[in-house]
Amino acid sequence: MATDFDFAPLDLFITGPVLIRQEVREAGLLPEFGHRDTENEKRFGPIMAHLRTLAGVGDEWQPIILNGSGSVAMEATIRSLVADDETVLNVSVGAFGDLYHKLAVLNGKKAEQLQFEAGQAINLNVFEDALKKYAPQVVTFTHNETSTGVCNDIVACCELVRKYKALPLVDGVSIFGGADIQLKEAQPTTYATATQKSMGLPAGYGLCFLTDEALDKAKHVTNRGYSSDLVTQMTKAVKNQTLTTPNTTLANQMCMQLDYIVNVEGVDNRFARHLQLQKFTHNWVEAQKGLRLFAPEGFRSPTVTCVQTAQGTTVAELKQLKEDMRARGYLFDPGYGKLNTNLEAAGKPPVFRIGHMADLQQPLLEKYLKELSEAIAPYCNGR
Ligand SMILES: *Cc1c(COP(=O)(O)O)cnc(C)c1O
Repeated sequence: MATDFDFAPLDLFITGPVLIRQEVREAGLLPEFGHRDTENEKRFGPIMAHLRTLAGVGDEWQPIILNGSGSVAMEATIRSLVADDETVLNVSVGAFGDLYHKLAVLNGKKAEQLQFEAGQAINLNVFEDALKKYAPQVVTFTHNETSTGVCNDIVACCELVRKYKALPLVDGVSIFGGADIQLKEAQPTTYATATQKSMGLPAGYGLCFLTDEALDKAKHVTNRGYSSDLVTQMTKAVKNQTLTTPNTTLANQMCMQLDYIVNVEGVDNRFARHLQLQKFTHNWVEAQKGLRLFAPEGFRSPTVTCVQTAQGTTVAELKQLKEDMRARGYLFDPGYGKLNTNLEAAGKPPVFRIGHMADLQQPLLEKYLKELSEAIAPYCNGR
């Protein structure tokens, strides 16, 4: 029996996985199916249509669903779109920008990296200098940097990449499903994301949105692998199928969740709710003595807020705060590990994060932040 296990029913305020709605949990009980059977279309037909609606695009964009997670989708874009004799420029404003670079390096690509200081957004002038210097054929960047709460201007960044005749590959893992990703305006070559963040589903699929531009390029790239080959993936995606056996439990949940997002909550309402949660969180941070928003104004994420503590706060204290919040029934996010190690080594106070994505409603956020105000007082207030 499931009840024999000592699993704590915590309300997750980390940045993925996220709290799952009861209805989505129950959709896990729907019948399993064969992925080459007519039953597959009943799930993935609506899933593909709703993914386009959520992305604000039409049939010229094809979503590809890959087993795995966001990194798998990102790796597929590297494997499929960067040729051996080409240079890829990986622009990073934090841990996930670094991850795209790591994927390029580990796949043997000629990769250069442009790193901005943690907490900063992409500076377009510096970016342009790097484009001139490295003359890359492909460029990667992070739309919504989950480690720092920075949201880059996807339209301006893609426009700049295009000016230098390169192909922009975008990591949108923590924002897709929570905000307007401006795919139509930005026209990246690929846009990678995953199920377990702003879409409000369990982890299990990586997603990649692309157009013919990506496929035309990929056909000229060698050693694309098998499941990392977007050309092969595409042959199944156009039939609303996956290349390899999908997690059918997740497919049932995703079908139900996307129907809820598009037909019950409404896409515009969903995006507006996230802006409301963001505003509520910002107001809370500003009202707390000693805390400040880590990301600069104008570049603050609609789905995750990163908070810098006051001078004197330690990483160890945030870890203790995490345990204090667990005792209150919540999973608190004590900041991205490596970022906090670096901040501490530089004599700067560490950060923590508040995930306000997916299906979180304001009353629960209010309750959480009220409890966090109490729990954090011994560590941060008054400093
Ligand atoms: C979580 C995350 C990833 C990694 O995705 P996985 O699904 O864990 O593989 C990549 N980029 C960003 C911005 C993320 O938030």
